[in-house]
Amino acid sequence: MSDIKKVLIIGGGIGGLSAAIALRKAGVAVDIVEISPQAKVFHVGIVVQANCIRAMAQLGIADAAVAAGFPYKGLRICNQQGEVKVELSGARLAGEQYPANLGLTRPALHQVLLDAVTASGAHLRLGLTFSNIEQSADNVSVQFTDGSRGDYDLVVGADGVYSKVRTTVFGEQYTPQFTGQGVWRYNLPRPKDLLWSHMFEGKAGGKAGYTPLTEDSLYILSVFEEPGNPFFDPDTLAAEFRQRLEGYGGLVPELSAQITDNRKVVYRPLEALLMPAPWYRGRVLLIGDAAHATTPHMGQGAAQAVEDAVVLGELCGAELTLAQVLDGFMQRRFERCKFINQGSVQIGEWEQRPTQDADFAGLMKRMIDVVAQPL
Ligand SMILES: Cc1cc2nc3c(=O)[nH]c(=O)nc-3n(C[C@H](O)[C@H](O)[C@H](O)COP(=O)(O)OP(=O)(O)OC[C@H]3O[C@@H](n4cnc5c(N)ncnc54)[C@H](O)[C@@H]3O)c2cc1C
Repeated sequence: MSDIKKVLIIGGGIGGLSAAIALRKAGVAVDIVEISPQAKVFHVGIVVQANCIRAMAQLGIADAAVAAGFPYKGLRICNQQGEVKVELSGARLAGEQYPANLGLTRPALHQVLLDAVTASGAHLRLGLTFSNIEQSADNVSVQFTDGSRGDYDLVVGADGVYSKVRTTVFGEQYTPQFTGQGVWRYNLPRPKDLLWSHMFEGKAGGKAGYTPLTEDSLYILSVFEEPGNPFFDPDTLAAEFRQRLEGYGGLVPELSAQITDNRKVVYRPLEALLMPAPWYRGRVLLIGDAAHATTPHMGQGAAQAVEDAVVLGELCGAELTLAQVLDGFMQRRFERCKFINQGSVQIGEWEQRPTQDADFAGLMKRMIDVVAQPL
């Protein structure tokens, strides 16, 4: 085991809960604080690719995740009319017994993670955050908002894209940037013969698609340019979404007609952030979206957060010093996360400002090769 015996994780989302599981497997004592008073997350869909399933297998949660989700066959990239141009099925990186692609609802994934955290013996406190972080050569001392205090060997900032740990430790200069597009999503019943995720390219400004999510549901999405990052009146969301879906083939017209409830439309402006290396200062390390928030173009945000967790757990379980753990983490994580971050932003750029060399399918194939590499 490394010099790191006791860790505080700030943020109980996908990365933070995964890190808790990984660190407990390495024998590290773990506290987690999550600002939300309830262990609840948005009811949106999440696409989980083979490298994420492999990372979940390393955490021991892949069976539960697969049981909670819907394995689908892969991604079909289509032209605007719906003609299939490329099929990417991915490799079964976690072994033949696991699928290469999995649709999940976010609440289902959260429950899988929470169950494993509870079983691991990590100490999760909800409705709590930090008010001060003080570092010395020997430890890091954290003051919590309920007045309590704790001393740790390492603090992991897993508090998402708007990370307060990041601004507290690194300053205000690193902020997520709006990329010019927004993503629209809506859950609908899944036609029983829909077994592939479909993405339709070719309309200026963005794309549309749909993905199986569970036995009974799918989600339809559009990623589209939203100049000036506008605010949308909540009473217009369904009509705005349907408008962005005009002109596409496949199942889009029949699915689009079912988008009628404004409250069920999930709209998010797209933002990205890549912290320069290293993602640590002293004894505080950022993981997940806090360090490398990406757009959904490659479907890799969650996967990269879970991979961060696996690598951190492996390093903390080895006979290493604090410095070796942190340097080793950056060596194994920076380039891969940078590729995902920059590749995702690049696809969004091509959608907004098409160029001769724009090659969505080529870049997605490269991504599949990159993430197939061992962690
Ligand atoms: C609508 C939507 C759809 C997405 N779909 C996909 C997808 O299909 N596939 C995919 O791979 N990725 C997807 N992503 C991206 C993915 O969700 C993120 O990359 C991933 O959740 C990052 O994990 P994280 O733990 O770093 O951050 P999060 O999951 O955001 O977790 C951060 C946690 O920190 C907590 N927190 C925040 N501030 C504090 C604080 N000060 N103190 C304590 N706790 C705090 C938050 O409440 C939250 O629980 C999607 C994102 C969105 C918004």
